[in-house]
Amino acid sequence: MATIFSRIIAGEIPSYKIAESDKFFAFLDINPMAKGHTLVVPKQETDYIFDLDDDLLAEMTVFAKKVAAAIKLTIPCNRVGMMVIGLEVPHAHIHLIPIIKEGDMSLANPRVKLSKEEFEEIAEKIRDKVE
Ligand code: AMP
Repeated sequence: MATIFSRIIAGEIPSYKIAESDKFFAFLDINPMAKGHTLVVPKQETDYIFDLDDDLLAEMTVFAKKVAAAIKLTIPCNRVGMMVIGLEVPHAHIHLIPIIKEGDMSLANPRVKLSKEEFEEIAEKIRDKVE
């Protein structure tokens, strides 16, 4: 059965899309740790990120770099943090999270509640800045 992220990539489930290439897809996390929290996923369905082929993993990092640059231009922050967990959705993904301080990366933090309009506005602004 396809993962929820494959169904998002296929357009079967809606998402706030940020960027897409032939191999990768980026969209806003629906339960964000900060405004602009984005997930980068490979179109190839692989559960564990370190099971990805070396070249694909390297390309995924470069794709995430482009998305992170666009997030940084859009959301006031000091850095865009990069995190991999992967315990909830069995489809490899990188979390990109705008942060001011180290504690902003803590999973214990309350999540940010955003309206559909806010998600759409953020996605559009980031999307426009992806090179
Ligand atoms: P993890 O697998 O632990 O790295 O976490 C999976 C992440 O995917 C969580 O931050 C969820 O909020 C996010 N997520 C799950 N379903 C969706 C969805 N349909 N759209 C966007 N983000 C999602």
